[in-house]
Amino acid sequence: MSNIILGGHSFKIKITSSEIQKAVSDIAKQINTDLKNKNPLFLCVLNGSFMFVADLVKQVKIECGVSFVKLSSYEETSSTAQIKELIGINEVIKGRTVVIVEDIVDTGETIEFVYNQLKKLDAAEIKIASLLFKPEAYLKSLPIDYTAIVAPNDFLVGYGLDYKGHGRNLTDIYVLDYEADEKLKRKTKKINK
Ligand code: 5GP
Ligand code: MG
Repeated sequence: MSNIILGGHSFKIKITSSEIQKAVSDIAKQINTDLKNKNPLFLCVLNGSFMFVADLVKQVKIECGVSFVKLSSYEETSSTAQIKELIGINEVIKGRTVVIVEDIVDTGETIEFVYNQLKKLDAAEIKIASLLFKPEAYLKSLPIDYTAIVAPNDFLVGYGLDYKGHGRNLTDIYVLDYEADEKLKRKTKKINK
């Protein structure tokens, strides 16, 4: 499979689209059973989770709601502990079962922030569904109820995840290819000489 270039760096496939679809399907099945008759609200954390939530809720066959919050904590390729709320929660949360939908849980700062907001708003039950989970980077203790794929502690792009605003549209998930990236750098240097 060939590498792709994003923002001048070379990335290789780490998780294929069919692996992603299978993992999303498995979570949806679990949710259909666990949250039957609970009319859950899926609260998608933008931007990264837009693809995941779309594929997930297409396979959720129980009555449910879907809404969005927009937060930002990531700068280029690392997480910062400072979370900015760009679009807040505007649904009635009191007494509801809410499923926070994240693209990736890294340090856990984002998920904890949303969780605490929902607690303050008196949610009846809060579940967390994440497409990817990086256990090596996780610093919190909240359980991730539905993890589709356990990921290595590497920087990933694709399927909603971006590198400097690019790559969200990719259907597979990619990781930086250090060897190919070095070669690319050498080639670019030669050309620019
Ligand atoms: P946390 O607050 O758990 O440290 O980070 C959560 C957010 O950082 C995720 O929702 C995601 O938007 C971003 N993030 C974490 N790891 C990665 C990664 O490997 N690649 C990209 N593109 N974003 C990431
Ligand atoms: Mg996210």
